[in-house]
Amino acid sequence: MKEMTIPVRELVEFTLRKGDIDFRYTGRQRGAQGTKAHQRIQKKYKEGDLSEVSISRTIEYEGMNITLQGRIDGIIFDEGQIIIDEIKSTRAPLDEIDEDFSQVHWAQGMVYAFLYSLENNLEEISVQLTYYQLESKEIKRIMRDFVHDELKEYVYENLIKNYIKWAIMIYQWRELRDESISTLSFPHDSYRVGQRKLIISIYKTIQEQKKIFVNGPTGIGKTVSTLFPSIMSMTEGNVEKIFYLTSKNTQREIVESTLYSLIEKQLKVKYTSLTAKEKICFKEQTKCNPEYCEYAKGHFDRLNEAIEDIFNNENTYTKELISQYAQKHTVCPFEFSLDLTLWSDFVLCDYNYIFDPRVSLKRFTEEKGKYVFLIDEAHNLVDRSRDMYSAELGKKQTLSLQKLIGKEHPLYKTLGKINKAFISIRKDEEFDKEKLPEDLMAGVNEFIYKGDKWLAQHNSEASFYDELLQYYFEVNNFIRIGEYYGENYKVIKVKNKDEIIVKLVCLDSSSYIKQSVEKGVSSVFFSATLLPMSYFIELLGGHINEDYHMILESPFPEENGCMMICNQISTTYKNRQNSYEDICQYIYHTMKAKEGNYMIFFPSYEYMEKVYDIFVQNHPEVKTAKQSKSMTELERKEYIDQFDLGENIVAFAVLGGLFSESIDLRGDRLIGVVVVSVGLPKIGEERNLLKEYYDEINGKGFLYAYMYPGFNKVMQGVGRVIRSEKDRGVILLIDTRFAQYSYKNLFPKHWSKARLVKSVGELDENLSEFWKVSGKLNVERGKK
Ligand code: SF4
Repeated sequence: MKEMTIPVRELVEFTLRKGDIDFRYTGRQRGAQGTKAHQRIQKKYKEGDLSEVSISRTIEYEGMNITLQGRIDGIIFDEGQIIIDEIKSTRAPLDEIDEDFSQVHWAQGMVYAFLYSLENNLEEISVQLTYYQLESKEIKRIMRDFVHDELKEYVYENLIKNYIKWAIMIYQWRELRDESISTLSFPHDSYRVGQRKLIISIYKTIQEQKKIFVNGPTGIGKTVSTLFPSIMSMTEGNVEKIFYLTSKNTQREIVESTLYSLIEKQLKVKYTSLTAKEKICFKEQTKCNPEYCEYAKGHFDRLNEAIEDIFNNENTYTKELISQYAQKHTVCPFEFSLDLTLWSDFVLCDYNYIFDPRVSLKRFTEEKGKYVFLIDEAHNLVDRSRDMYSAELGKKQTLSLQKLIGKEHPLYKTLGKINKAFISIRKDEEFDKEKLPEDLMAGVNEFIYKGDKWLAQHNSEASFYDELLQYYFEVNNFIRIGEYYGENYKVIKVKNKDEIIVKLVCLDSSSYIKQSVEKGVSSVFFSATLLPMSYFIELLGGHINEDYHMILESPFPEENGCMMICNQISTTYKNRQNSYEDICQYIYHTMKAKEGNYMIFFPSYEYMEKVYDIFVQNHPEVKTAKQSKSMTELERKEYIDQFDLGENIVAFAVLGGLFSESIDLRGDRLIGVVVVSVGLPKIGEERNLLKEYYDEINGKGFLYAYMYPGFNKVMQGVGRVIRSEKDRGVILLIDTRFAQYSYKNLFPKHWSKARLVKSVGELDENLSEFWKVSGKLNVERGKK
């Protein structure tokens, strides 16, 4: 018999949704799913009551075994009466919530009541909706009594009956998909060094439903090595969906082309590529409400038709195809793409769709599913996730909104309170970093409460509507992040001349990453620079003794790279001004040894500018390029395109910036890299708090806050040179510290033959020896 698993939430939302997209009153309509609010209510249950009860029952419908699964917030036993408690936290005023407030909420409670009564042979059961008002902390409960047959009829007639066609559709597709996987072969003729081992390890990790952390140097073929075993695992019933998560758009091309190479081998897979809202939106501005946007108006009434159309006619839902079908059915392309992820086997998206609490795909992150998470360039997730769980709010924007709305507006006084809270924080000499600033949080909560009311009663005609809405979203984010506040957080204030910003700084997001990936069955964290491994395992929510980890060696011959350390120049902050001329000399001698393109990396723009100015002055004949702080997409492209012009360019850039990772300058496009300094992040309050935090946790504050993140950037910069087995190039590391044990200890194995150069003379000798051999190889390559 056909079998299918459906999460309760998906069944209910998919079947009952209708009407417009309207993000004007987000707080009011959706309510923050405050975990803490849930816990507050659950704590008040009496002994014997149950909370967070997983439930899963299989029912038969039209020849199909359908397993409905989900998690009940609470089960209350009250003098013989059994009550299914469905908890909703909300920002809507409680007096506006009555029995008819949300059909979806009732449906969720009723499905759970049906499943529970079925499991326990109950004739009667009650459903209670418990609304928790986030500002006033008041609670409103609404209860209804049901008999089992009534619930059964509702679930079968109103929900399953409408969903079954979709269930059959996806079932039939998965049969086709699995059949194609059973005959799928590896897309390349042979395996690269280490690749087979990696593929087998990932396959095994998925079978065992575990996590693995992989350091795989450039050239191993990490994309196909993670994709292939994940896809192969799909036929065994443990995996329904693969998420390929990236930190940068530049990684996407290679993922897509790898997937297409498998599709060429007859793989059948439904694939969705998610594009940021601003980039896929049809309108000039992303004002998602039915008055401004015709795609938002009635979006949900037409959505299922659009899904059915694209599902039956296409397999790869790229940005272009999604836009085409969204136009055809007049639905919002962004929301459409989010929905398509439900009907896809493979989803390619940014980290934030899984890890960011503000924008994550709730349908996949609230309940457990058969997902595999492939996290590419995982070293980037450390800082990215800390940012996702941090928030800030400034006085200036508060004041300017206050002025804009004017004294008569009902929110004027509340903004005044927020402003006053900022002023007292500014004056507070003993500002407490250990706790949330009470007055500010109270003011912000009041703003959300009153703002909700005002936004609900007014349409977008007010001249300041957009600014007010923008501020409303920002304070919502601020409060939402405030809900996570705990020992892994600190509050800081940043003072400028006429500005004061309060930041909620997340110092450790490892437990959040862990929670997110545990919603799936397995996850693979991989990068070319996941070293030191124990550091990354800890910061990415893993466990060194429980999770798998592997460090693969570079597949390229060591002699293809000429690695040198110049330990004659100190680049510490206080010694920098004495280093400029010497650095210029080393750069010049490096590039003079062989014509070609070179990249020079610095720890900061300031340092780069100083050396650049001197270099250009000393060597005006050399063609140079320089990264600048804010570059448009066109400027970035122009910078990279220069490597193709055959003009022997020396390109200056910063470590950890746009050009120090994820760019692939194969072959002769780049033949050398000079890295100036060990890349330590700039000393600042946030970094120092991080240092203090880890000093307390494991005594490794400096390593975790400065040394390891800095060295990671160095490894990324170095990784630009040798990109394929035919590439040859030079790497020069300039800093006295590179020769010290503490740094040499961090070197990956393929750096072990790095030579020390104590003068430009020694540099010349090494380079001439290297290019003498490699020059021949280049000629041979040219002949091919
Ligand atoms: S098309 Fe743009 S403005 Fe309209 S709902 Fe979608 S994202 Fe919002």
